[in-house]
Amino acid sequence: MVTVSEAKKRIVENTPSLPVVRLPLAVATGHVLAEEVIAPVALPPFRQSSMDGYAIVHSDVTEPGKPLRLAGESKAGQAALPVVESGTAVRIFTGAPVPDRATAVVMQENVLVADGVVRINEYPVPEGKNVRKAGQQIARGAVALPAGTPVSPGAIGFLKGMDVNEVAVYAKPRVGLLVTGDELLKAGEPLVPGKIYESNSDMLKAALAQLGISQVTISYASDDLEATIGALGRLLDANDVVLASGGISVGDYDFVGKALEALGAETIFYKVRQKPGKPLLFGKKEGKIIFALPGNPASSLVCYYEYVFPTLRKIMGNKEPFLRSVKLPIRNAYQFGGERDEFLKAKVADGEVVSLDGQESFVIGSFAVADALIYLPVEQNQVAAGDLVEVHLLPL
Ligand code: AMP
Ligand code: MG
Repeated sequence: MVTVSEAKKRIVENTPSLPVVRLPLAVATGHVLAEEVIAPVALPPFRQSSMDGYAIVHSDVTEPGKPLRLAGESKAGQAALPVVESGTAVRIFTGAPVPDRATAVVMQENVLVADGVVRINEYPVPEGKNVRKAGQQIARGAVALPAGTPVSPGAIGFLKGMDVNEVAVYAKPRVGLLVTGDELLKAGEPLVPGKIYESNSDMLKAALAQLGISQVTISYASDDLEATIGALGRLLDANDVVLASGGISVGDYDFVGKALEALGAETIFYKVRQKPGKPLLFGKKEGKIIFALPGNPASSLVCYYEYVFPTLRKIMGNKEPFLRSVKLPIRNAYQFGGERDEFLKAKVADGEVVSLDGQESFVIGSFAVADALIYLPVEQNQVAAGDLVEVHLLPL
């Protein structure tokens, strides 16, 4: 048995990044940049107006109401530009190129135009007002995004604006999911005595989808050693990561641990000093990562978010792979006995966190409405209302 922090340390030490692939930007969302991106063009590429108004020489405006002669226009997309000589103004629109000698743009709300004369009702006009400098956002040749940056919608907008259409990113893993349990019914089967509907596979698949992982293969094995060895072996051959659900506890019909042993997998830890999710196993075989998750749905999902999620994020190149952690005051007092750290399904509201009813490991209903987990180490087994607790925010 290892502690929570030892378990996390071991997963960090045992999870190298996946290979680097070059992908079209449009399908790279959720991947992490494996190489920095150098700006191939400056942004903006030319001096741009940030307003609809009039481009002028700022020093021409020596008093409020100064008249200037209207001398043409510059609209967005225009290449041939009128010249702004001293004493003249050029009609200009947002995003349009600012003519060479113009030094400022006055917004149209501050201008009166009649009979070809533009009166500037703004004084003084600072140099550079409403003019975006060429390269103000980024210079050509500068590092646009460093390696390790997640390809977010914002990153796509930024890169696409520089005509970057392909990026080097870490691959996403192929994940195999093994579902064990003779009591499990598939969707739509009649509910007969002793059986329950199988729910972990879709739950974990949904959790993987949150990370943009869609290459997921699900296999089912009965509670039988040979069947478990066969199914696990096939999943290990075809995937980068294998998650098993159930069958990892100490019951007579728990075969996942024995099957992994028979397959020659290395156990990096088995059992974590935590509640729920004590019988968690983390292992490896020929570079493939293995998690055996307890079958109870809430235990399974706690283990997923606390261990599997950061592992997947780390192998996909994320530098801060764990759930985001904050300290918040707890609204309700909570205490527990025993020797294990606890993870509580919780909800964050108004700068506080509330632990929800239904913390037992078979209760998944509380998870259905949770947006966070409270982490209470055994040393903090008695918390009063208002005490600060460690809160891990779930990705929603
Ligand atoms: P196990 O870890 O196999 O001992 O299972 C622990 C508990 O979780 C038992 O009550 C199982 O019926 C339940 N369970 C196991 N696998 C699943 C599953 N895929 N979906 C829903 N419940 C499950
Ligand atoms: Mg079972």
